Amino acid sequence: MPVRLEGSCRCGKVRFAVDSHTPHPYQLCYCSICRKTAGGGGYAINLMGDSATLDVKGKRSIGIYRAEVDRDGNCEVSSGERNFCKSCGTALWLYDPTWPELVHPFASAIDTELPVPPEKVHLMLRFKPAWVVPDIGPNDRTFQEYPEQSIEDWHKSRGLWVD
Ligand SMILES: [Zn+2]
Repeated sequence: MPVRLEGSCRCGKVRFAVDSHTPHPYQLCYCSICRKTAGGGGYAINLMGDSATLDVKGKRSIGIYRAEVDRDGNCEVSSGERNFCKSCGTALWLYDPTWPELVHPFASAIDTELPVPPEKVHLMLRFKPAWVVPDIGPNDRTFQEYPEQSIEDWHKSRGLWVD
C-alpha cells in the first residue's frame, strides 16, 4: 500500500492528500525557482505522488505560478505549475502536464510524518548563491543540474519503494 500523505498550507485554507510510493524527502533542489518560492534555507524538497489520488480541499484558495525560464537566452514559460495558497503563500505542490500521472508535493507542506532519508541528493547546485553551503553527508550525491536517477529509481534501487 502506498503511503497516504496529508498536507496543508500554513493558514489552513488548503488541505490535500495524495498517495505516494516514494515518501523519502531526499532530493534537495537548489534552483532559483525552488529556492525563492519554497526554500528559504537554500533549497526545496520535492516528493512524488500519484496525481489520480490527489484530493484537494480549498481549491478556490489555490494560485498557480508558472516560472519564466531563461534557456540559452530564450525566455520560456515553464510547463510546471507551482500550486500555492493565495492567502498565506505556502508552496503546496508542483504539477507538470507533461507527466500527468505525477504530482510533486513540497515536503515542507506535508503534515504526515515522513521517513528520514538514509542519504540525500543535492541538485541544481550551479544555481545556488555562495552563502548557501550544502550540508553534504558521506553518502550524498551532488549534481550541478539534474541527477541521474528518477525519484522512482532512487527509491527502488535502495529498497525504499513502498508498494
Ligand atoms: Zn493558506
